[in-house]
Amino acid sequence: MRLSRYFLPVLKENPAEAQIVSHRYMLRAGMIKQQAAGIYSWLPLGYRVLKRIEQIVHEEQVRAGHIPLLMPTLQPADLWRESGRYDDYGQEMLRIKDRQDREMLYGPTNEEMITDIFRSHVNSYKDLPMTLYHIQWKFRDEMRPRFGVMRGREFLMKDGYNFDVDRESALHAYNRHMVSYLRTYERMGLTAIPMRADSGPIGGDDTHEFLVLASTGESEVFFDSAVTELKLGNRDVDYDNREQVAAVCKEFTTLYARTDETHDAALFDAIPEERRKVARGIEVGQIFYFGTKYSEAMGATVVTKEGNKVPVEMGSHGIGVSRLLGAIIEASHDDKGIIWPEGVTPFPVGIVNLKQGDGAADAACAGLEKALLAKGLEPLYDDRDERAGAKFATMDLIGLPWRITVGPRGLANGVVELTSRRTGESEEMSPEAAVDRIAQIYAGV
Ligand code: ATP
Ligand code: MG
Repeated sequence: MRLSRYFLPVLKENPAEAQIVSHRYMLRAGMIKQQAAGIYSWLPLGYRVLKRIEQIVHEEQVRAGHIPLLMPTLQPADLWRESGRYDDYGQEMLRIKDRQDREMLYGPTNEEMITDIFRSHVNSYKDLPMTLYHIQWKFRDEMRPRFGVMRGREFLMKDGYNFDVDRESALHAYNRHMVSYLRTYERMGLTAIPMRADSGPIGGDDTHEFLVLASTGESEVFFDSAVTELKLGNRDVDYDNREQVAAVCKEFTTLYARTDETHDAALFDAIPEERRKVARGIEVGQIFYFGTKYSEAMGATVVTKEGNKVPVEMGSHGIGVSRLLGAIIEASHDDKGIIWPEGVTPFPVGIVNLKQGDGAADAACAGLEKALLAKGLEPLYDDRDERAGAKFATMDLIGLPWRITVGPRGLANGVVELTSRRTGESEEMSPEAAVDRIAQIYAGV
């Protein structure tokens, strides 16, 4: 992509309405535009990151054996009357009437609808286990939408629902979600800690929230600092192996880590003092096991191997896809702008031409662009007729993790400069070597 032909409406000034750094940088980098309180348009750069995040979420869900589908944003009120939540949900639910005066709502979550789909088509243990998920816009008429996409009213969520024949299988589904989420967040360059949480209005026995530590987070969290050292890494997890999956969950949930709702001061005080941490966190996901709460109310049953008809065991599991952009920026930035982790960056590398119009520099940049594209890596090439300082400032603000700087002086010696956004360190090398290095970096992402 050439910047001269792109749409990147960068702001020079700090927008007054943005209270936290991620919101500020998303506005300044031209990623989003607010259309109403808590409702945003995703401008091209923001949209690219959103799609990257969505892609990672899909890949890890499919890897865990979960099946994607798509349910609508609008739902009939009658479904929610069956579970009793139409009246319970309160003002956060946006209620709408169509021209026939039928009551509808913009879905804040999809337990009722997925249970309806399940009961219409499945009635035997032979079709289980089954986990269905979608990535779809939700609407919650939040009392205080704020912090940009972090607490929107319309926001993108991955929500998945497991259907199992018994409690043990449903708990395995819960564990499978935990592991797939750990992998998902790690691929985005995040440390998200599973913390024992309170079940809230969805209701249930077992629930963990995943929290990214950040001073601007809305939740107060208490944890043993050793928990931040745990990494899933590249280990090969067989999602069908109950013991193996449970062992990973145990490893990640044994050290103390809780949100304020479930905090237990006595347990916390038993941790060695130097490891006792109180901090703030951003909730980027939550998993729930709730058993037969919806299946009983809505008549979703299966016939077991023994021939008994039982309500199906369920859980629901969410990831805040659009909130993740904010969380990643809160966790990865400096005073010049965003620093995207390689896994989610909108472009893998930027090319800065120090002297637009110089024959050698223009040709070298075009050559780099072509070579990177041939390797499936689309660079953002700043080909504008701008001062070098302005080009660097834009690249730093939008946070591409790597930059190749091309100028006549370097080219005279056969070199360009490869710079890491994170460390600021630069290295001179031939254009071919720079392309190979970038390809190597992204081969592992
Ligand atoms: P919160 O406590 O932050 O209001 P929640 O617990 O009500 O969130 P869930 O029902 O668990 O939210 O939804 C799953 C995920 O969706 C959350 O973990 C969060 O990452 C994301 N999410 C929830 N509400 C919002 C919102 N208003 N804006 C953006 N993302 C949200
Ligand atoms: Mg939650």
